[in-house]
Amino acid sequence: MPKDATGVEIEKEIEVFGYHDRSGHPQVAFHDVRVPAGNLLGDEGSGFAIAQARLGPGRIHHCMRAIGMAERAFDMMCSRALARETFGKTVADHDTVREVIAEARMKIEQARLLTLKTAWLIDTQGVKGARIEISAIKVAVPRMAQWVIDQAIQLFGGAGFTQDFPLAAMYAQARTLRMADGPDAVHLRTLARREIRRYEAGFIPEPWPHEGT
Ligand SMILES: Cc1cc2nc3c(=O)[nH]c(=O)nc-3n(C[C@H](O)[C@H](O)[C@H](O)COP(=O)(O)OP(=O)(O)OC[C@H]3O[C@@H](n4cnc5c(N)ncnc54)[C@H](O)[C@@H]3O)c2cc1C
Repeated sequence: MPKDATGVEIEKEIEVFGYHDRSGHPQVAFHDVRVPAGNLLGDEGSGFAIAQARLGPGRIHHCMRAIGMAERAFDMMCSRALARETFGKTVADHDTVREVIAEARMKIEQARLLTLKTAWLIDTQGVKGARIEISAIKVAVPRMAQWVIDQAIQLFGGAGFTQDFPLAAMYAQARTLRMADGPDAVHLRTLARREIRRYEAGFIPEPWPHEGT
């Protein structure tokens, strides 16, 4: 509907962690608003189905962007670790920092592979066939991104918390993704339900070679 349609009221702007995201997240009230017939998308009454249909592709898109953010944080972390010296050597020369870099690379690649598998399932079986994997990446990828960005902030020292670098804003974004398009708890519930159903349906795993001897 047109933004100036009768009955549309923008009550207030909402900040997220103090940030104003792109065009914003306002709180909008609708009082008996009439949608012009010519503005209808799809059939009358099918709005919920349209909103649901965007969720699968929307979620994988969020995850792809989160992987990009994690990769950028990783680049920044490694460049900073080489450029800065503490206790007589570069930050990159401290063993604990190397461990963080190795862990970050492993986590990014694990998340990327699960996301690629999900994309492959969407391509070959449609969104329905990838429902569980979409839930899985929607939990795993923002968690990973939040962890990598958090480590990058730590490695940057005090500067990482400031507006001089994009890390703090990236952290807010990754944290938000654990809520937007469904909180972690709800996606975990979907995933667990499918696993439990297999056993309820009588799934019996192959015995291990030593079992029963
Ligand atoms: C920055 C941001 C942008 C957003 N953008 C959009 C948007 O563009 N479009 C849109 O439609 N929505 C958007 N949302 C809304 C978002 O999808 C909802 O906030 C989210 O789905 C959770 O719903 P809720 O806030 O009503 O929380 P509730 O449903 O009240 O849940 C609150 C908490 O209860 C717990 N919980 C709930 N159910 C269960 C369960 N079954 N098992 C265990 N624990 C549970 C979880 O910890 C959950 O986080 C956005 C949210 C944020 C923060």
